[in-house]
Amino acid sequence: MRKRGSSIDEESLRRIRDSCRLISTSASTVVFTGAGVSSESGIPVFRGSGGLWERYNPALFGNLLGLAIVFAFSPGKISYFAMEAISTFLSAKPNPAHEAIARLEQAGIVKGVITQNVDNLHRKAGSSNVFEVHGNIFRARCLKCGVRSDIPKEQILEKISSGEKGSSKRRDLLRMMDRFSGRCSCGGRRRPDIVLFGEMLPRETLTGALELASRCDCIIAAGTSALVYPAASIPEYAVQNGAALIEINPNRTRLTPLSQIWISLRASTALELISKEFLSKDELDAWRI
Ligand code: NAD
Repeated sequence: MRKRGSSIDEESLRRIRDSCRLISTSASTVVFTGAGVSSESGIPVFRGSGGLWERYNPALFGNLLGLAIVFAFSPGKISYFAMEAISTFLSAKPNPAHEAIARLEQAGIVKGVITQNVDNLHRKAGSSNVFEVHGNIFRARCLKCGVRSDIPKEQILEKISSGEKGSSKRRDLLRMMDRFSGRCSCGGRRRPDIVLFGEMLPRETLTGALELASRCDCIIAAGTSALVYPAASIPEYAVQNGAALIEINPNRTRLTPLSQIWISLRASTALELISKEFLSKDELDAWRI
């Protein structure tokens, strides 16, 4: 691992090396991610400063009851919130952290990704065994028959470009939401397939995530404060089942005391260094690193 010209401190490099040793002796390594992993793609974290959630109170805009209250009293605010959130997600591209995780999966080092993010960036980067425990903003779910289907970005762009941005009329807002998710072939109304605060996690996805976490012997938790339950308990569950925890986060979290190794770096820096340790020169060339 190169140190020369690097601004990474010696202690962090040592922890990266220790992590690589741990991963290489593990039969199954799993990655658990949170909003911090996508922050370098321009999507604000939930608890950071300057983000969407500083302007839109999550107690109102993050759950169905709160949204219903805003819808009743100031629907225009929902319209602005939805447009701002959608355009942030639409413009985001995978960053080196997503790409490193995808490379490690394709090389057989990482068995799967469990993510709390709804931004689709792991799939976009090339990860295939992805468990999105809070759903995916680019997918819709029919409220009548429950069928899920992808909403292509182009379709969203086309539909919202004719939307009533900032309209304060409830009827216009419903029309805009319909345009975003579209109607199901069964005639049912569809909604974005994401989990709001107070809602149940999708059962099949959660079961798959817990199975993966219970079988792994190393779990890397990157970019999460691990405060949003029940998803946040997944790394703890893995540890209880005997897995070693590597945490990647510039800040301490409630997972730090449980972790065998805490890497206090940005996810992109740490994961890129880890992936470079595992991939051959040919593989790295193929990914143009
Ligand atoms: P959080 O906002 O509570 O915590 C983010 C964590 O990431 C913090 O601990 C912070 O120190 C760390 N962090 C910030 N930048 C980082 C970087 N470059 N590298 C590594 N770590 C970094 O996020 P959470 O724990 O995921 O919980 C928030 C909930 O809100 C999630 O469950 C998710 O569903 C939702 N959310 C999703 C997105 C998204 O899809 N991208 C964005 C915001 C919120």
